[in-house]
Amino acid sequence: MSSAAVTLPVKERFNLPDGMIYLDGNSLGPLPRAVPARLASMVGDEWGGHLIRGWNVDGWMAQPVSVADRIGRLIGAPQGSVVLGDTLSIKVHQALSAALAMRPNRRVVLSDNGNFPTDLYMAEGLIGQLDQGHELRVVDPEAVADAITGEAAAVMLTHVDYRTGRMHDMAAITKLAHEAGAVMIWDLAHSAGAVPVDLAACKAEFAVGCTYKYLNGGPGAPAFIHVRPDIVDDVEPALSGWLGHDAPFAFEPHYRPAAGIERMRVGTPPIIQIAALDEALKVWDDIDMDDVRAASIALCETFIAEVEARCPQLTLASPRDAGMRGSQVSFAFEHGYAAMQALIARDVIGDFRAPDIMRFGFTPLYIDDGDVRTAVDVLAEVLDKRLWDDPAYQARGRVT
Ligand SMILES: *Cc1c(COP(=O)(O)O)cnc(C)c1O
Repeated sequence: MSSAAVTLPVKERFNLPDGMIYLDGNSLGPLPRAVPARLASMVGDEWGGHLIRGWNVDGWMAQPVSVADRIGRLIGAPQGSVVLGDTLSIKVHQALSAALAMRPNRRVVLSDNGNFPTDLYMAEGLIGQLDQGHELRVVDPEAVADAITGEAAAVMLTHVDYRTGRMHDMAAITKLAHEAGAVMIWDLAHSAGAVPVDLAACKAEFAVGCTYKYLNGGPGAPAFIHVRPDIVDDVEPALSGWLGHDAPFAFEPHYRPAAGIERMRVGTPPIIQIAALDEALKVWDDIDMDDVRAASIALCETFIAEVEARCPQLTLASPRDAGMRGSQVSFAFEHGYAAMQALIARDVIGDFRAPDIMRFGFTPLYIDDGDVRTAVDVLAEVLDKRLWDDPAYQARGRVT
């Protein structure tokens, strides 16, 4: 691969503190430089100046769908098939509850133990609340394909594993789910903006994701949900909030779902966060996801090769085959927590996932080959000199 492919021409559009190498955009994307001015104008002019009129004159009420269309392009979803709102946990609940209602004679929700805990917790909570004898069946990621049977009402998976970066074959698994008569739900938390996704081609019924990771929408940015357009009008929203009603301002006594994706809205949208997200998504306007993928693979391959050559203390915890991996690389290390704290103290920011995973996200919008090499220099020094072996690096914050 030519090194030209490793850099995308938008690094200067991000605010990255001097000297910092930010390998945690898979957890919280950095601040796009255009966002503060957009927020100032949203808050000052729109909220401050227009007040309640902003819902109409500034288009606030339409933004959950209009801004989501920018995400649709990145995940291969048709225009008007994605809506923003709430958090990803809530969107998982919406998708799964709708899926179970679509298969009333089936009782199994199939997932895997590489899924992010909240997805499984939300499934447990929903199953308990429904009290209809559903079973959450959780298998190893490698066993998912064989575990898809005619018992499954829904197959609910996260495309890219948050700990290891292992990536499912979205098209193949969706096909198996459909052949078994199950509804397919993909969580794209670590895929949207990280790897090319083609929802229209794979025909999954539901996809959900968050916007504060690779999409750089900022802490608290709303989640998104996609419903396949040919089924959306048959979906029964379990969270039947007023803004998913067909005529919210008719204030009717009973719920009637809106046509199309609007029915997946619940309540008042987070307009300030949506303004930040809209501005952040503009960075993607001139970006092709295939270029992002090529650059991401080049960065990850360099990182793996350099770490394996210089840091024998670490063990690769991600798939070695780039085609099986998302846009992150993880290494296992017994003292991974302290080592990550030592790295962070030296301005190389990754994160740690229990029990022993050091996780590094590679986001070619603002990480280049030089950053990768510098990060490995620092990592090798931390390990060779046992700089992690310091009580200061043992203390755990609320967020790791
Ligand atoms: C990050 C992430 C979440 C987070 O859910 P929130 O409700 O936004 O806190 C959920 N699922 C997966 C797979 C994730 O990676």
